Amino acid sequence: MDNITADTLSRISPQHMSSDANNLTELSIHYIERIPDQHLQDQLRNLPQLQHQDPKLQTLIEILQSPMETNEFQQLYTNYRLYDNTLLQNFKGKWLIVIPESVIKPLILECHLYYLHCGAKKCFLLLRENFIFKNMHRTIRQLLSSCDKCQRCKINNHPLNSQAKGVKCREKNDQLAVDIIGPLPTSVGNTKYMLIVIDIFTKFVKLYPLQRATTRSILHKLFHHHFPNYGFPKRIQSDNGTQFKSNEWIRKFESHSIQLIYSPVYHPSFNLAERPIREIKRCLRTYCSQNHKRWVKYVPVINECLNEIYHESTGFTPNELQFGTRNIRFWEKYVSNPLAEEVPIEHKLLIARRKLEESRKKRSDKINEKRKPVSLQINDQVLVKSHHLSKAIAGETSKLFEVYEGPFIIQEILGKSTYQISDLSKEHVYGPYHISSLKPYKNSVNNAIEDTEVVASGRA
Ligand SMILES: [Zn+2]
Repeated sequence: MDNITADTLSRISPQHMSSDANNLTELSIHYIERIPDQHLQDQLRNLPQLQHQDPKLQTLIEILQSPMETNEFQQLYTNYRLYDNTLLQNFKGKWLIVIPESVIKPLILECHLYYLHCGAKKCFLLLRENFIFKNMHRTIRQLLSSCDKCQRCKINNHPLNSQAKGVKCREKNDQLAVDIIGPLPTSVGNTKYMLIVIDIFTKFVKLYPLQRATTRSILHKLFHHHFPNYGFPKRIQSDNGTQFKSNEWIRKFESHSIQLIYSPVYHPSFNLAERPIREIKRCLRTYCSQNHKRWVKYVPVINECLNEIYHESTGFTPNELQFGTRNIRFWEKYVSNPLAEEVPIEHKLLIARRKLEESRKKRSDKINEKRKPVSLQINDQVLVKSHHLSKAIAGETSKLFEVYEGPFIIQEILGKSTYQISDLSKEHVYGPYHISSLKPYKNSVNNAIEDTEVVASGRA
């Protein structure tokens, strides 16, 4: 893919300040700005003409333009319209601009580059806001799979199966996750660290370059920049880093009645910020691999992009859910969709909540899948976890004793996971027991020998 060399972020205009610069004015950094490819700009401006020149679209347009309302016309008219000389197609009730063959590849590539080498699914969702072309998803996937930069910079994303267990977030500021990246190569303004703040519901991200990663500097950013701008959260989640465990940190949040949540020590993947953090690191790698010290210049652009791109778990962009505003796309300067319709924000929030709930369910199902499904049948032999040992024997550690007793026999299946058991002679019935305290018992050769000995000695 040789025409990808002119990367969007390399078409920079360093004298421009990003709109996001307020947070960092004290560092006086000249941020870069995104500019779409010049040739594509021209193509988008002339989109109706290019549609008319496209051999396949030409015939469609001719039929739509004919004054005779033939059968052919009637059939086409339900799905296609000419509006302001632009050919639009109805897809699932939404009118979309039909992209002519010659513009498909440049548009996909530009969207991919403009939005930080986003993946095929995200690229598709972005373009689907306004455009349609044949085999859209497949074409995008095929084209992007060969992006050289992506192949070198993307890390295999293994799904995090235990991510959001039990955390319910139904609104913005229900819970924020914070994390620190660094130390990074010392960049402009002596910055070495980056503070990441993510809203767990909206997925809205803010990145703050920092000189130090101390409790004090993080608290300062949060209480003097982030919270005043975006509101105070109910809960704050972090890993167990020393900055997040200090007395200063705990006292400060307690005094504001903000609950602190820590990821389990041995499961850093419980931190809901982990995946976005990996995405941010990927972006930094993609854009700063040649000159590591420039990373801070890319922060606002990366930050803006992350909030403009669709998030899989909500189905919306973070900006939409956080502010209820529409994202302005780079193509809107050149081409507009006259039949575009806006979904009301209340509706978006409802859909996002439902999607988040579904994906949480999916995740826990996945976890349960990994646990071996045990189903016990009547007359199966089982062992039972013994609870009395640790209590009964004072001063002696229960670890030295067997934790299971038995074997017993499954006497009756009471429910999905509860059973009635009996001893081997079926004289005494116990239970009900939950499956988690039962364990299938296999009759081993050793046990058989032991049993005979016991029986033998009993008889003697
Ligand atoms: Zn790429």
